[in-house]
Amino acid sequence: MEPLLQQQILAEGAVLNTGRGRPSRPLHFAAAGPVAIGGEINVRHVAVTVQRLDGSTEFEQRIEVDNRHAAAADIVPRLAGLIRNAIAACGRNPLGIGLAVPGIVQDGTVVYTPNVPGLNGIRPGDRLAADLERPATDVAVDNEANLAALAHVWPHRLSGDDFVYVSGDVGIGAGIVIGGAMFRGRSGFAGELGHVTIARPGRPCPCGSHGCVEQYAGLHAILQTAGKRNLDALLHALDHGDTRALTAVENAGEALGAALASLINICDVATVVLGGSYATLFDHLAPAVRTELGTGVLAAARRPTQLTLSAFGSTAVTRGAAALITRRYCLEPNLLLPPRELTTGELLGES
Ligand SMILES: [Zn+2]
Repeated sequence: MEPLLQQQILAEGAVLNTGRGRPSRPLHFAAAGPVAIGGEINVRHVAVTVQRLDGSTEFEQRIEVDNRHAAAADIVPRLAGLIRNAIAACGRNPLGIGLAVPGIVQDGTVVYTPNVPGLNGIRPGDRLAADLERPATDVAVDNEANLAALAHVWPHRLSGDDFVYVSGDVGIGAGIVIGGAMFRGRSGFAGELGHVTIARPGRPCPCGSHGCVEQYAGLHAILQTAGKRNLDALLHALDHGDTRALTAVENAGEALGAALASLINICDVATVVLGGSYATLFDHLAPAVRTELGTGVLAAARRPTQLTLSAFGSTAVTRGAAALITRRYCLEPNLLLPPRELTTGELLGES
C-alpha cells in the first residue's frame, strides 16, 4: 500500500474511531489519481468518458453522427478528436483506452458489423492508437454490449452474478454474464440476440436469415411501425398517448420478450438489464416483455426473471470501455507504479 500512497494513487481518509481497537484511516483512490478513457463508436454517435480507478466519471462527451455509411478513415479520427479533448479536459495522461464497437471483435479485428460496415475487417484500436500517437497496446477493443455489461460488473456488481444486458438500438446485442464472468462463446459471437429467429417464415434480415428479432424489435423496426423519424419523436408520441406509437412499442416488447425467453430457457440467468434505446423506452416496453418472460420462461413459476433498467442509461458502453482498463490496473496494481531497478539481492532470489 505504501508505494501507492507515495505515488498519490491512493489517499487516506479521515481517522475513524469506532470505539474499539486502534483508530483507522480508510484508504480510497485519490481524486487526482490515474484515469482511463472509454471510447465508443456506434451506429449514430461517438462518445467518450474519462473514468477514475474507483469507477467515478471525470468527464464525458457524446456527439450524434451517422456512421452507417462512413468509412473508418472518417470514423476513427472523429473519435480520436473527442479523446484528445477529453485528455486536455482532465489534464493527465490516461492509463489506456478501451474502445467499444457495435460488432463482433476477434483479437482486435472487427469481423462482423452489419450496421457500421466501414469498420468491417479493420483493427480500429490500432488505427485509434496511431491517430493518438500512442502504442497499439494502449487500446483494447470489444463489442459494445459486452462492455455495457462489464459496466454492471466492474467496479461494482450492480446486477448480480448472472444476468443479460440487452443493448437495443438499430441492432440488438446482448452481453451475457454467468458466474460474474462474460460468456463470449468460442469465437466471440455469443450474445447475438438480435438474430434469434422469432418468426418462420419471417421478415428478411441483412444477416441473410429471416424472422430475426431485430426486424421486429430493433429501433429501426419500431420507428417504421410507429411512423416516427427518431427516438425523440417516438417518445413525444408515446407521452401523448399516440395509439400507433404505443402499439409499435408493445409489439416490439412482445418480440423482444419472446427472444429473451428462449435465451433464458437455455442459460437460466436471473436478471435482464435493458440499456441503450430500450432504457429510454423502458416504461412503455417493459410490460409486454414481462408478460412474455412470464409465459415463455420455464423457470418463471419458481423464480420470476427480474427485468431492470440500466442504471447508466446511455453511458453504460463508455463506462464499460473504460472499465476494461481500470479493471486491469486494479487487479494488477504493480502496473500503476513506475518501473524500478531490481536490487542485486532480488536478482539473486534472496529475500
Ligand atoms: Zn438477422
